[in-house]
Amino acid sequence: MNVQTQYSLTTEIKFLKGVGPKLAAALEKLDVKTVDDLLHYLPRRYEDRANFVPIRSLRADDWATVKGKVIDVDVPKRRGLQIIRAIVTDGTASLSLVWFNQPWITTKLSGRNAEIIAYGQVKSGEYGYQMQSPEWEIVDSEDSEAEFARITPIYPLKESVSQKMVRRAVKSALTMVDALPETLPLEIRKRHKLMSRRAAIRNAHFPESEEKRIGARRRLVFEEFLYLQLAQCMRNRERGLQEGIGFEIASDLHTEIERACGFTFTAAQKKVLDEILADMRSPHPMNRLLQGDVGSGKTAVAAAAMLAAVRANFQAALMAPTEILAEQHAANLKQIFEPIGIEVELLVGKQQSRAKKKAIARIGSGDAHISVGTHALIQQNVNFDRLGLVVIDEQHRFGVMQRGALRRKGVAPDVLVMSATPIPRSLTLTIYGDLDLSVIDELPPGRTPIKTHWKQPNERARVYEGVRAMLQQGAQVYIVCPLVSESEKMQMQAAEDLYKQISTEVFPEFKVGLIHGQLKSKNKERQMEAFRSGETQVLVATSVIEVGVDVPNATIMVIEDANRFGLAQLHQLRGRVGRGSKKSYCVLIGAPVTPDSAQRLSVMVQTNDGFKISEEDLRIRGPGDLSGTRQSGAIELRVADLLRDGALLEEARSAAIEILDADPKLESPDNAMLKSGVEQSRSRMMQTDVS
Ligand code: ADP
Ligand code: MG
Repeated sequence: MNVQTQYSLTTEIKFLKGVGPKLAAALEKLDVKTVDDLLHYLPRRYEDRANFVPIRSLRADDWATVKGKVIDVDVPKRRGLQIIRAIVTDGTASLSLVWFNQPWITTKLSGRNAEIIAYGQVKSGEYGYQMQSPEWEIVDSEDSEAEFARITPIYPLKESVSQKMVRRAVKSALTMVDALPETLPLEIRKRHKLMSRRAAIRNAHFPESEEKRIGARRRLVFEEFLYLQLAQCMRNRERGLQEGIGFEIASDLHTEIERACGFTFTAAQKKVLDEILADMRSPHPMNRLLQGDVGSGKTAVAAAAMLAAVRANFQAALMAPTEILAEQHAANLKQIFEPIGIEVELLVGKQQSRAKKKAIARIGSGDAHISVGTHALIQQNVNFDRLGLVVIDEQHRFGVMQRGALRRKGVAPDVLVMSATPIPRSLTLTIYGDLDLSVIDELPPGRTPIKTHWKQPNERARVYEGVRAMLQQGAQVYIVCPLVSESEKMQMQAAEDLYKQISTEVFPEFKVGLIHGQLKSKNKERQMEAFRSGETQVLVATSVIEVGVDVPNATIMVIEDANRFGLAQLHQLRGRVGRGSKKSYCVLIGAPVTPDSAQRLSVMVQTNDGFKISEEDLRIRGPGDLSGTRQSGAIELRVADLLRDGALLEEARSAAIEILDADPKLESPDNAMLKSGVEQSRSRMMQTDVS
């Protein structure tokens, strides 16, 4: 009897041929438990082992896979570090492979004439080209030539298991590939030229050719996008049909808000405000994303929408991701609204319990027309009298979970989400589906572009001399301290150290303030107020000032160790200057250690355009990092890559819309397969409530 026929998709992998307990345990840690899981555990990359690059033609900085004989292994010790250096030759030239503190590698390599395959980045070292800590495999007698000379999958693994072990396990699992159900209707597969699911999985692991590998990926990515788009479009359509509030909005709203703000709206602000007001007038709930670069005037537009809600006798709430930002919003809105008799209430976690109680009571009674806060607003004990409009300022952090919770504080209120960094369309579509989109594509008048410089750490003294000259002429400066740690406590320490140095050694003749995330709200407010009023001229800060802070006279920002910040974050930080009509400067101090960080800093020097920056960011870092969505679990893309697969996303999106136009609830028998798949995606989205 053939053992393999006894497997099924639900067989645990420890029962698979070629899977020992060690491998089973290691894979279980990666959430791979069954044959089905293993079939969907896709390679991270591939190596074409039919065609290796000759060592002679390598160039510095190339990422390459080479194959050769180990002709020497040397284990020098240097400053407590154990170095293993293997010299490998393929007949055209030789290359050193270098590892640190992994003595066990020596034994593996010292077999006579061991043949090795290594993958890594080529660097010039003291003995010619080398690869540091490459990925590697020994070629042994088990690797039959025919099996071997092909496109080989490389899986995302932890150290303790080898690629070979996983490949063997996957091969066993693939004997069950024909049990995989098809998940796309034939009609769709034909129209979009997609291979079957079985063929796709088979070729994703062991591609028969480069063409098949690409086809396999295309099929899997399309499917992933299609289900996501179907789920999001269905949900948004349902929401659009819901009963909501049809606000009555007076025709003089524009005049009233412009008078209260003290400026005329830009054409772009007027356009998006009209889109928002049209949604608010309609009897269905608004679900709109307001995008615009830092400082483009989103908050002013949101204030107009809030005014409309209040004038229609409803409450409005604005939720921000940080306390500083909430406080800043509250201060701004009070300035706009209190003179016209509209009450603004602040609610943040760190308030004293008396103040908090009072705020909650005023929100509950309806005395507070506009409530501004952090996620304190969505605590259970907060109830609104008649919440009609919810504004969420998420800047570039996606407050994924919270959005739904605040919406539920009202009865089908209108929802407006503000997002600062204009994110590329592919990302917007993936995260928000067909959420309606308004874009502010113009800055308020009178802004002079910020001039950005990148300086090396040894030029720091000159930078600060330049800053001193500007301080003497009345300018104010932010000094952003290096990002040392995720831990707020350690970050605070770094900020305090920098503060000491700046206030006693660098600028002893000026008043210096300090602000960081660990300060009590009162202190934070005091520090901000002192800087805003010009009492302090220098503000040392952690990245807490990244969002919202608005001091027009602050025209210089120095960012220490700028290479450690992400691109989106640098852009946000820089947005704190250039808020008035005076020329502003941003100085990035940093000696980048990786090509990526050098690239980030040059992008900052080259452009002020948030849209370009976010695209570059996506390019450099990959989409998961950019939005923080991977971590927050908002959407999990298993195969797709938002940057590379933009075109396929559009294709899947049109397909989804077409399918739903014809069959809104996926009730036709042809769509049964789609329906069950969508239900699964939707239940996953419910858990996170993306929009
Ligand atoms: P965002 O929320 O997009 O970052 P804000 O609404 O906070 O932008 O606006 C940034 C700054 O520009 C604020 O000081 C605001 O008062 C000012 N501002 C907004 N719109 C205009 C306008 N149309 N004309 C002049 N100043 C404006
Ligand atoms: Mg703002």
